[in-house]
Amino acid sequence: MIELTLEEFILWVVCGPLVGIGLYCVFVGLSRRSRKKKAKNNVICCRVCGHLYQDWTREPAPRCPGCDRANDRGRSRRLG
Ligand SMILES: [Zn+2]
Repeated sequence: MIELTLEEFILWVVCGPLVGIGLYCVFVGLSRRSRKKKAKNNVICCRVCGHLYQDWTREPAPRCPGCDRANDRGRSRRLG
């Protein structure tokens, strides 16, 4: 049998749920951040005409519906 004093018991009863809630908040924050990043990656701004569009395919360079030019996902590091 585990012997606990009243202070130790109260500490376990209070700190156990707090640690659980903290871990849950961290998990929810990380999953929300991941969802935002995925959604942001699907919004593409055409580099030629400036048209904003969404693309849910996995193509690395989806075509703009306005001018039919292929655009890279995310930030482009091309110079020209
Ligand atoms: Zn375009």
